[in-house]
Amino acid sequence: MTIKELLDNLNELAPFSLQEDNDNSGLLVGEHGSEVTKGLVTLDVTEKVLDEAIEKGCDVVISHHPFIYQGLKRVIGSRPAERLLVKAIKNDLAVISLHTNLDNILTGVNRKFSGLIGLEDLKILAPRLGYLKKLVVFCPVDYANDVRLAIFKAGAGKIGDYDWCSYNIEGQGSFRAGEGASPFVGNVNELHFEKEARIETIYPSYIENEVVRAMIEAHPYEEVAYDLYPLDNAFDMVGSGMIGSFKTPLSPKEFLAMLEEKFNTGIIRHSYFSGEKIENVAVSGGSGSFLLDKAIEAKADAFVTADVKYHQFFDAQNKILLADIGHYESEQFTKDLIYEMVSKKIINFALQISEINTNPVQYFRTK
Ligand SMILES: [Zn+2]
Repeated sequence: MTIKELLDNLNELAPFSLQEDNDNSGLLVGEHGSEVTKGLVTLDVTEKVLDEAIEKGCDVVISHHPFIYQGLKRVIGSRPAERLLVKAIKNDLAVISLHTNLDNILTGVNRKFSGLIGLEDLKILAPRLGYLKKLVVFCPVDYANDVRLAIFKAGAGKIGDYDWCSYNIEGQGSFRAGEGASPFVGNVNELHFEKEARIETIYPSYIENEVVRAMIEAHPYEEVAYDLYPLDNAFDMVGSGMIGSFKTPLSPKEFLAMLEEKFNTGIIRHSYFSGEKIENVAVSGGSGSFLLDKAIEAKADAFVTADVKYHQFFDAQNKILLADIGHYESEQFTKDLIYEMVSKKIINFALQISEINTNPVQYFRTK
């Protein structure tokens, strides 16, 4: 498989266009045309991880965190990113990152996190705005089924647990074919009226090319009349964080003890919380404290994330049990997630999970 083919597959799993503006997901090192045969999945790219990849005969490293995050003006080995880049290139290793594009999908990092602690009825905590669009297409009534089915198959028409959603109405379209045209119905230089269906449906903007291509292929007209509208509706399939609930609520103490055990945390920093039970829980793997207000707004009893600042614990006090379990701890299972997703999608690609604990944070304890 070429790197380009690998990227196309990864893009179908977690579209790179869903990454945050300041992110650097995608191909960091390597060339599209190069062949890759074996991959190593890691949370972070470190020197030890690259050594492991070389030792295991891998030619591509797939990480969650991109090791190149800011622009590099020179590569002289003075910063870790520069040294990693040199090492990867010297050893013919490609590096691909699936970072916030993997955070922002319904089946991504936070779904894995939620599943691990047993949350049910999962929803995205902060759905993305501006991602939903509307397609309206006009086509001869007899072809409406084919056109509708083609755009559904390309991924349009999904609302929550429903798919193939559309609105349809019949009317009359008019056109006059000019010289050089070969109209599907009607004659050149004559005004023609045709019984047409107006089909309306929605789709996420990142599949627009596929949807429009499928629609045009299924449509009998030489010139297809269609409109693409931006929508202000939130798109609940993409966004940050996740919220769900426990079937059986836990006490705050039981809840924290469960987090400690499941995530094998060195320490949990948490806010003072006067509530008695934890039932609705919001989570965000990694630095998710920007979602604290959303979690409070959504009436979560607890919010579990990492990299929480001192003053945010004041903001949470008595409103929500805010728990910081550590950045690495909260995302350690992302390796398994990437492995599961990729090996299911690309069956004949050799993939391994890195055995290295890349957590740069140490916890000091006398006992
Ligand atoms: Zn992270």
